[in-house]
Amino acid sequence: MIKIESQEQFEKAIGRARKGDLFVRFVRFRQFVVVNRATCAEYNVNFFVSRGRRFGGCDCKAGRKHLPCKHVAAALAVHLGIASMRRGH
Ligand SMILES: [Zn+2]
Repeated sequence: MIKIESQEQFEKAIGRARKGDLFVRFVRFRQFVVVNRATCAEYNVNFFVSRGRRFGGCDCKAGRKHLPCKHVAAALAVHLGIASMRRGH
C-alpha cells in the first residue's frame, strides 16, 4: 500500500502515466482496473482511507514494493475527479 500524502509525490508517476497508453476502468467506488494498452496488461488499483490517511494500492511490481506507480497515479486522477463529484452532491 502506498500512503497518499500529496499529488506532488505522484508527479513523476503522472508523467509516466501520460506517456504510457493507460486506460482507467472504473470498477466501483475506490476500485479501478488500469489497462496498459501497449501490452494489454491489467492492474488492480484500489484506494482506502484509514484514520484520516489515504492509501492506494496496485498489484504491479512497483506497487507491491509500495512505490507510487503510474497506475495508481492514473487512477488517482480519475478517483479524485469522482470523489469531488460525489462531494458536490
Ligand atoms: Zn502499478
